Parts: sequence; C-alpha cells; structure tokens
Amino acid sequence: MSHEQNWSLPLRGATNPSTHADGTNPGSFANPPQIGGPLTFSSPDTPGMPPPSTFTAWDFLPSGWVIECATKETGCAGHNHPEIGEHIRAVAPLDFEPITQLEKARLGLITPEMERVSAREDHLTAAQIRDEIAAGRLIIPANIHHLNHQLDPMAIGRASKTKINANMGASPVSSGTDEEVEKLRWSQRWGADTAMDLSTGGDLDACREALIRESTVPIGTVPIYSMIIGRKIEDLNEEIILDMLEHQAAQGVDYFTIHAGVRPWHLPAIEKRLIGIVSRGGSLLAKWMITHDQDNPMVTCFDKICQIMRQHDVSFSLGDGLRPGGLADASDEAQLGELSEIAKLTEIAWTHGVQVMVEGPGHVPFDQIEFNMKLQRQLCHGAPFYVLGPLVTDIFPGYDHITSCIGATAAGYHGASMLCYVTPKEHLGLPKADDVKQGCIAYKIAAHAADVALGIPGTRDRDDELTKARAALNWQKHFDLSFDPDTARALHDEDLDVDTDFCAMCGHDWCSVRISKEIQQFASGKAEGFDRGAALRSAALTDEQKEILEKRGILDPAEIHKLASKTHKATGANEEKASCHSDHVSEEQARQLQALDANEEEISAL
Ligand code: SF4
Repeated sequence: MSHEQNWSLPLRGATNPSTHADGTNPGSFANPPQIGGPLTFSSPDTPGMPPPSTFTAWDFLPSGWVIECATKETGCAGHNHPEIGEHIRAVAPLDFEPITQLEKARLGLITPEMERVSAREDHLTAAQIRDEIAAGRLIIPANIHHLNHQLDPMAIGRASKTKINANMGASPVSSGTDEEVEKLRWSQRWGADTAMDLSTGGDLDACREALIRESTVPIGTVPIYSMIIGRKIEDLNEEIILDMLEHQAAQGVDYFTIHAGVRPWHLPAIEKRLIGIVSRGGSLLAKWMITHDQDNPMVTCFDKICQIMRQHDVSFSLGDGLRPGGLADASDEAQLGELSEIAKLTEIAWTHGVQVMVEGPGHVPFDQIEFNMKLQRQLCHGAPFYVLGPLVTDIFPGYDHITSCIGATAAGYHGASMLCYVTPKEHLGLPKADDVKQGCIAYKIAAHAADVALGIPGTRDRDDELTKARAALNWQKHFDLSFDPDTARALHDEDLDVDTDFCAMCGHDWCSVRISKEIQQFASGKAEGFDRGAALRSAALTDEQKEILEKRGILDPAEIHKLASKTHKATGANEEKASCHSDHVSEEQARQLQALDANEEEISAL
C-alpha cells in the first residue's frame, strides 16, 4: 500500500524566512519579494482586493524638477513606469539644496542614514533603501536636529521589517516627565522602534525635550495637543498652528501626526456611528470646523506646514481623525472618505519633498483588515501605512493588547509597515511601565509573525535556533534565545527548578520531546556539542525573575525566597547571613531550606 501523497503547497516564490532553510517548512506562501516594486513583501490578494497604484512619489515631484535616465550607481530603480528608464534620477533647479531623505534619494544620493538602515536591515542594500525612499514607499523619520542627539536611524516601509510604536505621555490626571522618560527607556528595552509623546498634561514642552534627548528611536507627536494648552480649540488659528510646528520641528520631533484629512463633508456620516469620533485630534478639529463653519485649518495651511516640515526633515504621519472606534463603525463612509483626502495630501507633501506615512484604524473586524490595507496601498501609492491595532473585537477591555495584536498581525501581513501598540490599559487609563512592556511584547509578536509569514530573509533564524535548543532540552539556551528570558526562566522554575529531560508540564514519562530524542532515527534533539550531563538545579532566581513570580502570586513567599536564594555563588549573597534568611520563614523552616541549599550543586536522581 502506497502512502505517497502529492501535496500541492501554495508556494508563490516568496523567500524562505530561514537563512539556512533548516527544518521542514518549505518557506513562505506570500508573493515573491519584488523589492523595488509595489508588491514588495506582500500577501496574495483575496478576490476583490484593490490592486496597487501605478503611481509612486516619482509622479509628484516639485515643479521645476525633471526626470532623466541615470546609471545604476547614480540613479534609482523601482519606478512603476518602466518606459522612463531602468534607472532614473531627478534633476532639481540649479540653486536647490536637498534637506530631506526623500529629496536626497530623488537626486540619487545615499545618505549616512540610509547606510545605517542597511546595516540594521541586512536583507536590504543602501541603494535599495534609497530607491524605496525615492518611490515614497519607505521613510527614515530622522529630524536633522534629533540626529545631533542619540537618534539611531531606522526605516518604515514594506521593504523593511515591520516596526512597532509605543505611545507615552503624561495626562492631566496622571504622570510627569520623569515617569514618561522611564517609560521611554522601558519601551526601548522591550523593542519599540519609535515612540510617540502624546502628553496632554504636565509640562508638555519639558517632557518632549527630555524624550527627544533621551531617545535612540524616532519621536512622534500630535502637535495640536500643545496648540490648545491654555486656550479653547475654537481659538486655534493659522499663526498658532505654524508657530507650534516650527517650535517642535526645531526641538527635533521626527514625525508629526496632522489630522488634515477630516473635512466638513465627512461629518454628517459620523451621525450614523455608534461611537462618533474617537481620535482626540479629529474630534477637536470637527468642533473647530462646526463652530467656525469653515474647512479644517490644517488643510487650509497645508502647504505652509509642508514647508516647515521640509526645513527640518520632519515626516508626516497623516492622522486618521475619523478612524472607527468600534467594529460597527469600521470601513464606513467617514473613514474611507478621510482616507481618500489623505491620499491627496500625500501627493501634495511629496511635491514639497516631505516624507509621508499614513495612519490607519483602529477597530476593524478581522475579515475587513486586508481590504483596509490594500485600499490604502492603492489610494496612497504605497506610502507606508501605520495602524493602531486594529482591535478585532470590542468586548475584552483589560486585554486589548491581545485583541489588537491579532488584528495587527493580519495588518502587518496584508500591508501595514508600522503597528502602534495597544496596552492592557487601552480604553481604561494611562499605561504604567508594566503595561508598556505588555503592549510592546504583544506587538513584537505581531510584527515578527507578519515578517516570517511574508518571507523576509532571515526572520525565522532565531525561531529555528530556539526550536533546536528546545528539542535538545537545552533549557539555558532555550531561555537565552527567548525574547523575555527572565519570564521564561521564572515560569519554568516556578514548578521545577531543575534543568533536566522534561519539565513540569508533562513530567518524565510523558515528555514527547525526551521520547523523540531517544528515537534513534530522528535527528531531533541531538544538538551538536550539547551535553548537559546529569540534571542540574538551576541557578538562583535573579531579582527580575523573583519579581515576576511574586506578581503571579502562585508560590508563597517562602517558596519564592528558596528559589531566589539557593546558591551563594549565583547570588553573591552575604556569607554572614544564611541564604534562606527571610522575614517570611520561621527558624525551623530556615534550617530546612539551608539544608537543601547546601546540596544545590547537582541532583543525580529525580
Ligand atoms: S515535559 Fe512536555 S512541555 Fe515539558 S519539555 Fe517535555 S514535552 Fe515539552
């Protein structure tokens, strides 16, 4: 009897995300990478999805600029109109001095920031980065003043890996500059690629200044918040808008959220919604327009805004002031109407040489996410999409880092370039440091899952290394390769503080990994050079690991103390004090723990 079956896997030519092609997975089912085209790292279209635009930022040059053919070394590839030439370059008027990364890319220049991004994203050359910037599909948000501090340039766009943003900022009710700087450090520790200062309380200017000086990642702001401190929204005018933008641009802010897509004719559609306008900027500007019976002031002075941003190379994050605030309001007339306005603003910003990304929703049912991503790709000609979540259900407040990271994974796969994190405090209060950690980790999971699915070269390498360590029951390497080693180690040791051929999940006799390792014809688990020998008691918990177990509240304080103080060597404990010393244990318990402690080196029989 033949067991042969001919599985027809839907391989479409995407890169295998494993550099070494280890393991049995044949690779990604996504489209071929096509770096330099509109389908760079893209998902196959479900029937009915909008196709990519045939335009790019090359179609929206400033007046007086012309395109000419160039050599491979001095020109850009990647234009959507091949008849213009394989490599092209823009020629600016004679006295023109380029400032922004977009202007330099159009002129065929490779900047130090492009070189740095290439070093950080080893699947992209500096020339490919330049070409993607020139096409408007990639941005390097790097204010020329922030580059004088500690900014480490990064890129946002489909050709690069998926990025995550962490929001912070004091509210009128809670927090202050020191706390927000601490949250910034914490978010950088947990992998945030950019941070937004959304302060609406405290000393906004000092907080922004401190965050810019402290951060190695780009800082974004929503400048309208600062414009209305101490005044009513109705009093906002062009002079206030431009002054604040000039001030923040000179401070070093890398990208501005400007809600210029909200127009008066969108507002009647809001009446049909369950939850109206949920964007602060969107609701404030709607109120201004209704009060004055005039168009959005961010639109009427949009050219002047572009001129200020160009002078400092501040990138646009064109804000979605009408994003849906609940599943029922998703993909409605107001949201999509605003997106269409944002597309026109994208074209205008490009004619000013300003880099652009576009903000997106919000709360979107899972089945509508692909359409939302691909509609933006079409309307905005491939400009990077930066989405908030989206949340795929509304009934889990307290867990919205999870509801949204599910949507964010789909968004990352179908077209988003940056995912704005959502923390467990979303809808409920201002995030604390641990909420920042939880939000960052949820979104690193979403971004990484999307990158592996898209077949971005090398993105699966660490997963494969960890799988091999797991198969070999090499616990320490397993933890070292984990994104959060302290949590992994603490949870393992909570049940069994011994590194051996099983864990407390199944126990010795039922451990399938141990059994697989013993089956001779499997290569599984036979890691070259790894021999743990006899079972070893793990080292004492670090302070971080101890804190993790204390927060869980599963073990009693004496048990945690025992895990945290079991070796003098590991802890560097004071020799004059018993390692089991604690206010939590009696003398008798301390003596028993001490006896265990003395025998910590090796457990030969389990
Ligand atoms: S005991 Fe179960 S969970 Fe633990 S390593 Fe073995 S198979 Fe995995």
